Amino acid sequence: MPNCSHFDPSNIKQPVSYVCDECIKTGSSWVHLRTCQTCGGTHCCDNSPNKHATKHYYSTKHSVVISAEPGEAWAWCYSDEVFMKY
Ligand SMILES: [Zn+2]
Ligand SMILES: [Zn+2]
Ligand SMILES: [Zn+2]
Repeated sequence: MPNCSHFDPSNIKQPVSYVCDECIKTGSSWVHLRTCQTCGGTHCCDNSPNKHATKHYYSTKHSVVISAEPGEAWAWCYSDEVFMKY
């Protein structure tokens, strides 16, 4: 069972705005949103055409995102490939 040392469930960054920060710049659209737990940026998921959350991880190495979807309470660590409910 892999462990994640990156995620702190007691200090969760919630999305500041319910949009993908990158899609907004290009006028693109998204399916679901994820919020980076390192910088607080919100980006689109892998079902979205631009996959900005994954691109954000590869360009910044910010490991953990949470789902920004209302009513969902889970996190994903790209570094450890761990799914966590909180
Ligand atoms: Zn981790
Ligand atoms: Zn996007
Ligand atoms: Zn980030």
